[in-house]
Amino acid sequence: MNDALSPTISPTLPLAERLASAMTVAGPMSVAQFMAAANAHYYGTRDPLGSAGDFVTAPEISQMFGELIGLWCADLWDRAGRPEIAWVELGPGRGTLAADAMRAMAKAGLTPAIHLVETSPVLRRAQAERVPGATWHDAVDTLPADVALIVVANEFFDAMPIRQLIKRDQWHERLVACQDTLFLPIAGKPIPAEIVPAPFRDAPPGSIIEASPDAVAIARVLARRIAAQGGALLAIDYGYEGPALGETLQAVRGHAAANPFADPGAQDLSAHVDFATLAAAGQAEGAVAWGPIAQRDLLGQLGIDARTAALARTAPDRADALLADRRRLMEDMGELFRALALTAPSWPAPAAFA
Ligand code: SAH
Repeated sequence: MNDALSPTISPTLPLAERLASAMTVAGPMSVAQFMAAANAHYYGTRDPLGSAGDFVTAPEISQMFGELIGLWCADLWDRAGRPEIAWVELGPGRGTLAADAMRAMAKAGLTPAIHLVETSPVLRRAQAERVPGATWHDAVDTLPADVALIVVANEFFDAMPIRQLIKRDQWHERLVACQDTLFLPIAGKPIPAEIVPAPFRDAPPGSIIEASPDAVAIARVLARRIAAQGGALLAIDYGYEGPALGETLQAVRGHAAANPFADPGAQDLSAHVDFATLAAAGQAEGAVAWGPIAQRDLLGQLGIDARTAALARTAPDRADALLADRRRLMEDMGELFRALALTAPSWPAPAAFA
């Protein structure tokens, strides 16, 4: 986690003090290094989900979300000829999606080995309660190499560190500096214009471009594996089809927006996901890219209305709550959140995307 920090700085100091000391020694650090250190500390030290935490995600809103994703996986596996697979989730949070998906997959005859990619020890413990018998990984490199992989990632890629480029008279990499105990973004040394996508080189001063090399690297590794081993990746997140101008780095704390450069490690940092760049990375590794499509279309095609009605029939006292949950997933989040799929060329088209 603390590759940006000097090993001589005591790990028992609060993260803000360690980052400040590191900057005293080595100068300002990139936005990506700052975000990586802040999020590693943030996720490593707490369960941020739920009404008592900082934010709520779709699987925490309703069991229907994970169940419908489980159906998507089971349907694809069935039409691929029911090969042996490993089911993988990236950044599984509390393990709620995995548990709901496993239940739905088992009903469809799919009981795969479960592999969870998670760096936070706190969240690993929460996941172990809901998904006993899973295998944990620090990174995607160690996932099984001898079976097909069906990989799900909900609100994972948005947590990957981003670089920011900022235009002044020229383009600069944006850095984070520390003054006393205050962190603030500054423009670093000018960068060669060739690094900036051609349409944006003459953008007006103040313009920002973001990119996530880590997200692209993970998408590439998984796409290469999926193309060779069979399988698919389903990534759901808020995002855009870039590269594009604009700053999306955001901090959330107690369900409210906060200054992303304040209080590193005490609030969730995320950025919108560039789906077009992830799709292109997947295609470059031989996978087939689908979408992105709106979360509303994904869940609608997978039968959220029928599932809402079925659950309401078995628990009539919860009918209003179920409709409210459905509304949050389909209306509040329905357009903002989108889904991208990558599949092996030898696998069929995934449900809801074709
Ligand atoms: N998917 C869950 C949680 C989303 S929060 C849900 O929808 O509720 C982001 C998740 O990604 C957390 O589990 C966090 O610990 C994990 N995470 C963040 N950075 C990570 C990294 N570099 N490698 C693996 N997991 C990471």
